[in-house]
Amino acid sequence: MLIIMLGAPGAGKGTIARMLVEKFGIVQISTGDMLRQAVNEGTPVGKKALEFMNSGKLVPDDVIMAIIEERIAQPDCAQGFIFDGFPRTIPQAHALESLLTKKNMTVDAIVNLEVPEEVVLKRLTSRRTCSNPHCQAIYNIYTMPPKKEGICDKCGSSLIQRDDETEEAIKVRLDTYYEKTQPLIDYYCKHKAYFAVSSLDAHETFDAIVQRLQK
Ligand code: AMP
Repeated sequence: MLIIMLGAPGAGKGTIARMLVEKFGIVQISTGDMLRQAVNEGTPVGKKALEFMNSGKLVPDDVIMAIIEERIAQPDCAQGFIFDGFPRTIPQAHALESLLTKKNMTVDAIVNLEVPEEVVLKRLTSRRTCSNPHCQAIYNIYTMPPKKEGICDKCGSSLIQRDDETEEAIKVRLDTYYEKTQPLIDYYCKHKAYFAVSSLDAHETFDAIVQRLQK
């Protein structure tokens, strides 16, 4: 099974992807999480990505395609995967198409999460992330607070506000989304696997996707 999650930063791609991972036993491939891990480990990819990420800009396409190609070749991807935050540009979508053709793979669902900008803004500024690079659990101080303030329920590490979740960086990320990523909707909307979900409720969104996949 192969799923692509589209939507603005803060639309809920990661949350829904994790629910689908549990349901279908497939792997979540979040380029954002992979890049943050590379930054924490100080790898060459991390060093290249850091400045782009902190300012809310996109990491160059060739860097992204290299990590994607390596990731999907790993054995745990054999049952399928969900792309969360990838592709994010038209050139990435073209490169993905060539890669999938080469591997004889087809896409089962391209899900566009439609969430109004004011909701996305509120979600991003109230988001807290686990500082443990191996956990990276996400909380929201209003809607999904941890049991103990500032502490991750899952691993006990401290929660942080990411550098790219300051108001200034969020504005750049949203502008980047409208300029570079939103054109992907036009690119994919005629694809038979494409559909949009506009519920703000994660469970409703999840059910809609599962229903569509099981059709
Ligand atoms: P995310 O957590 O998915 O919002 O990603 C955080 C940051 O990582 C983004 O603001 C970009 O700087 C970078 N990033 C993640 N995925 C991609 C991608 N597919 N293409 C380019 N940059 C990316």
